[in-house]
Amino acid sequence: MERRKTRVVKVGNKYIGGDYPILIQSMSTYLPSEYDECLKEIKALEDEGCELVRVAVKTIEDARMIKKIKENVSIPIVADIHFDYLLGIEAIEAGVDGIRFNPGNIGADENLKKLVDSAITHNTPVRIGVNSGSLNPKFKNTDMPIVDKAVESLKYYVSLCEEYGLTNIILSIKMSSTLETIEAYEKVSQIYDYPLHLGVTEAGMGDNAITKSAIALGNLLLSGIGDTIRVSITGNPLREVTAAKDILRALNLHNSADLISCPTCGRTEIDLEHYASLVNERIKHIKKNIKVAVMGCIVNGPGEAREADLGVAFVSGQGVLFKKGKTVFRGTIDEAIDELSKELKEYE
Ligand code: SF4
Repeated sequence: MERRKTRVVKVGNKYIGGDYPILIQSMSTYLPSEYDECLKEIKALEDEGCELVRVAVKTIEDARMIKKIKENVSIPIVADIHFDYLLGIEAIEAGVDGIRFNPGNIGADENLKKLVDSAITHNTPVRIGVNSGSLNPKFKNTDMPIVDKAVESLKYYVSLCEEYGLTNIILSIKMSSTLETIEAYEKVSQIYDYPLHLGVTEAGMGDNAITKSAIALGNLLLSGIGDTIRVSITGNPLREVTAAKDILRALNLHNSADLISCPTCGRTEIDLEHYASLVNERIKHIKKNIKVAVMGCIVNGPGEAREADLGVAFVSGQGVLFKKGKTVFRGTIDEAIDELSKELKEYE
């Protein structure tokens, strides 16, 4: 797939846009002022594969604590600002790597200008984010379709920020419906070459949220649209990162190991879910594009396992390990999984 050409924006030690890999982001469920919990969660997110974390900034203390958080993590931290432009300025002065705001709730234009001026002075990138739930009043009460209201709101805010001299911009236009999200981003991508942060807003819980994001983000990414993504899920943000990696991997946009495992059926004679989970955990940190198979029986097992870079199949009461199509080990299933684990070291 050919990626839409976008400008490159540097956020901390990462680059977004151009030919840079699609960046995975998530958001902490703690405020920076809840320092210990917030830091612990950001480190866990980083360990899971998250490449940028956004934190909500509700008070001046939150903004100031960003400095301390940044001293202890290496991934970029972006401050999420609503209502009070002074919080944004404080976060910028504390050294935050980027800020995200919806100009619609920052108040008077002169306040927006002060915030933009500060971002320009400190070379801090800004994500201008419009959501379907926070449209500009000028367009909100018109009879335009919701997507057009959001696009017009975004255009209005971008032109204001550009007028104030801002160029270091990333855009997002998140809708809560899958189809509207696709339509909105397609429209925005035809207007601007700023990098786009993709997401479905208020996507819901668990599998439902992941399905919506996979469809919306998958479609857009397949059309070459999108430079960074967040899979919004109510609950533990670590799940967002796993889901984002899965979506990118399914589109060959992520260097990591892919697990192939059968769905199990009446022929399955072992606890395949248990073994597949063990292997899944084992391959989580591999940053190479390899396929690892865990298969339940002789029907599809050896075939799939042979196609994979490494694979284990349960055949005639034994665990058989295949490496690039060749049988390299036979033993108990536990022994075969141990052998697989040793072979995986080659890819670390
Ligand atoms: S590989 Fe075997 S055990 Fe697994 S789903 Fe297919 S037939 Fe069933």
